[in-house]
Amino acid sequence: MAKLLEGKLIAEEIKKELSLTVQTLKQPPVLASILVGADPGALAYVRGQEKTAQSIGITYKLHQLPESISEDELIDFILGLNADKNVNGIVVQMPLPKHIDYRKISELVSAKKDIEGMHPANMGKVLFGRARIAACTATAVMELLNSTGVDLYGKEVVVVGHSEIVGKPLALLLLEKFATVTVCHIATSKTDRLEEHVRRAEVLIVAVGKPGLIKGDWIKDGAIVIDVGINCRGNKIVGDVEFAEAEKRASFITPVPGGVGPLTVAILMRNLVEAAKLQQ
Ligand code: NAD
Repeated sequence: MAKLLEGKLIAEEIKKELSLTVQTLKQPPVLASILVGADPGALAYVRGQEKTAQSIGITYKLHQLPESISEDELIDFILGLNADKNVNGIVVQMPLPKHIDYRKISELVSAKKDIEGMHPANMGKVLFGRARIAACTATAVMELLNSTGVDLYGKEVVVVGHSEIVGKPLALLLLEKFATVTVCHIATSKTDRLEEHVRRAEVLIVAVGKPGLIKGDWIKDGAIVIDVGINCRGNKIVGDVEFAEAEKRASFITPVPGGVGPLTVAILMRNLVEAAKLQQ
């Protein structure tokens, strides 16, 4: 039976350390959070971020903007926050309304205040293996892998999902550890090759958003399984991996919820404190 990789426990440790660091700073770091519209999922996420921030001593300023805001108005608002010396980090909550170009916006947040690690300059540093701020979820996955004590050198690592926030930066961080990385995505499934890749994975990371995509009996004996997926099934939150079957085969596995999610928020706060230190 697999050991549980409980991200929430590692998150608690990170938060404790951060609250000590925050006390050594000249003033409490300030996180500006922009929420366009009132998407209930995003609002719940924002409340979670706010609670975590406050528990560390970070000032969390929520800017809730109307759904009807134009792209130009949003751009002006972000430029204002970039110029504001009292703001250390900026998060633009997703989803953005369809009339706003997400890429344009994520490039606009100053690289120094981009605590989500999505600015091209910060992404570029991940490529060169010298990032101080990297994409939060990908970093959370690396923390979880690190907590197993397993050396990734030469390991067969399969990442399912190639998004810009998870799969792509994660592949780069894994290469830094000399893992042998395969990245699967929708075309891997459409050409019926997903199962063969998953079956040989010594480390499997899944970030797709489709419950039950990864069958439990595909998991190699002794594999480490990190399930990033968050899906609502009735009133339950489930991941992308069939947990009950996978747990019997894996050596380590993340629960959903309580695995990657809470750690991602803690990493966001760590990035903010890092940004504040660099700015001060
Ligand atoms: P995305 O929609 O941007 O990307 C999905 C990826 O899955 C793409 O690479 C796509 O090609 C691939 N994919 C889609 N269908 C597939 C299939 N049938 N077989 C193989 N690959 C397939 O998603 P995202 O933003 O990266 O999020 C992925 C999941 O991770 C979601 O459930 C999201 O809620 C969750 N997530 C969790 C956290 C966290 O902190 N725990 C953070 C970010 C995202």
